[in-house]
Amino acid sequence: MQTVNVVVDVPLARSFDYLSSDPIAIGTRVLVPFGRRTVVGIVLGAGGEAAAETSLRSIERVLDDTPALPAEWMRLTEFASRYYQRPLGEVMLSALPPRLKRMPTLRASALRSPGQSPTPEWRFIDEHPLTAPQASALDAIAQGVGRSGTFLLHGITGSGKTEVYLHAVAATLRRGSQALVLVPEIHLTPQLEAHFRTRFPGAHIEVMHSNRSAVERALAWRAAQIGSAQIILGTRLAVFAPFADLGLIVIDEEHDPSFKQQDGVRYSARDLAIWRGHAAHVPVVLGSATPSLESHANASSGRYQRLTLPGRARPGSRLPSLALIDTGRETVQEGLTATLESAIEATLARGEQTLVFLNRRGYAPVLACNACGWIPSCPRCSTHVAVHLGERRLRCHHCGFEARIPPRCPDCGNADLQPFGRGTERLEESLAARFPQARLARVDSDTMRLKGTWEATQGAIHAGEVDIILGTQMLAKGHDFPRLTLVGILNADSALFAADYRAPERLFAQLQQVAGRAGRDALPGQVLIQTRFPDHPLYRALLAGNYNRFAEAELLERERAGFPPCVAEAVLRAEARSPEAAIAFLSEARERAPADADVVMYDPVPMSLERLNGWYRAHLLVQATQRASLQRYLTLWRTAIEAERTPRHVRWHIDVDPIEF
Ligand code: ADP
Ligand code: ZN
Ligand code: ZN
Repeated sequence: MQTVNVVVDVPLARSFDYLSSDPIAIGTRVLVPFGRRTVVGIVLGAGGEAAAETSLRSIERVLDDTPALPAEWMRLTEFASRYYQRPLGEVMLSALPPRLKRMPTLRASALRSPGQSPTPEWRFIDEHPLTAPQASALDAIAQGVGRSGTFLLHGITGSGKTEVYLHAVAATLRRGSQALVLVPEIHLTPQLEAHFRTRFPGAHIEVMHSNRSAVERALAWRAAQIGSAQIILGTRLAVFAPFADLGLIVIDEEHDPSFKQQDGVRYSARDLAIWRGHAAHVPVVLGSATPSLESHANASSGRYQRLTLPGRARPGSRLPSLALIDTGRETVQEGLTATLESAIEATLARGEQTLVFLNRRGYAPVLACNACGWIPSCPRCSTHVAVHLGERRLRCHHCGFEARIPPRCPDCGNADLQPFGRGTERLEESLAARFPQARLARVDSDTMRLKGTWEATQGAIHAGEVDIILGTQMLAKGHDFPRLTLVGILNADSALFAADYRAPERLFAQLQQVAGRAGRDALPGQVLIQTRFPDHPLYRALLAGNYNRFAEAELLERERAGFPPCVAEAVLRAEARSPEAAIAFLSEARERAPADADVVMYDPVPMSLERLNGWYRAHLLVQATQRASLQRYLTLWRTAIEAERTPRHVRWHIDVDPIEF
């Protein structure tokens, strides 16, 4: 008998030894007894001959429906476990598709191996001769092939980034390697998949995201691992896909916050992809119109190679003209200035489409009693509930709590309850009243709740069956609409003065993305932004089309204030049934922190949304000038916290490179 070392998904930072009659390869999935359960584990290594008298239990079964996970995958998950301070078993097993991490109940026949399938007959359809900037970007990436290198492909919407990805992927496939393409939300952008399928006829393309069925996910995983899938397109979870021969990683919209997982293993798929590319000697291409400040700084310091696509790729396609409407000078009626109204009028008259962007769903963000000032708030969160008039409901946008709109004020009995502010539902009402002849489409997570609605709406817009599209950031992503020539942006100012230091960066990215929807074809586009602060540097940089100037100014600001990317940071976050318990836990954890000259630890404070879903949330920020010292520090500190008993009704975790405060 021999011993093998196995990790399972338990909240313990250790592995376990089991007995096996035969040696088992590293990376093999096995069924093992754990306590009174049987669970799936992954073999980390061999332990050697077992002692004659041993209390170790035996492996129950070796799972051979997929081959052993490759060494490169093992290194990736080991790194993620160290970097994000989570147990290796949790990281490895949560990376597996659901079907492979649970006990096999029925015989996993769908997975039974057809053996190594022959490389399919595929072609790449080369649509356009590349522009000079595209060609030199592709050249640079091709030179990085076979060794590591991170490239920041910076170009506005329509500058031809996707075209560069497609060519780089084609070059990868020609060498017989596989390509991984990560995108923020693939179900919102089905046309990317369509692009790949039409441009690579015959190629084996797999799509990975959490909306796919368990069987599909397991099959895609397996196809990547045995090397039959040539292109994997996926959301952040696809960064953990195993590959037989990975040759290229592309991350589209690399600045998008949805690459960061916000629970469990709080990883950044972008950052892990960069690490993975480096470790596997594979080039990584980060694409964006508005790179994250992290990537911008890395490109400026020379750690990444910056590749710029300066204009729109398609001949004759012009940039939209941007203008600000000063709402301090013009009155706003029902959300719209006269200038924006007449621009919509003119667009309708030309038979073209308008997009009105308002990043707030519902009818109004608050309801208030006109007599006593009562405002309904969420019983579970520290926030007001929004008015959804169509359904006559109040709804919390953080936890989903719902209640009927009360007929009168519960405090004073007054029946005059008034909605304040404006969401997309109210905007739709006023647009319908103002432009009765126009066909409207509202796009937000309320109207698009049903699967397939967004695709259908995009089809209707394409077919010219819609005149005015209004909605939230959902609209920022998606099809090019060739007849869309006017974009109106309402109420963007609120993000200018948010407490979150990343708010301006996000606002810039969002506005640039929405603005990029205008005039993608030969028709010239126009973007009108209503603002009370027309002189704000963010709007000035946006108007000048100068993202780099904005990024430099923001970086300087971050440096002065001591924020990332100028420092590395992490938070210890606690959630408890009372605010005092959360703070008390953090104060005690602070006492147990190691001493390190490079690490600064702040006081425990409540999070900006303190109460969420009944839990009071607080956190403690740590910063260091060096990432490595922060890593060392967090490992010691976590061990110290784990050594003590966590009080009942308190839960905690460490979030490395947090984006939520
Ligand atoms: P991005 O990904 O930067 O938004 P795309 O690659 O989607 O840009 O290109 C935008 C549009 O320009 C697409 O319709 C594409 O077909 C077209 N295009 C891209 N590259 C070229 C080129 N070299 N010549 C002509 N048209 C191009
Ligand atoms: Zn009242
Ligand atoms: Zn709530």
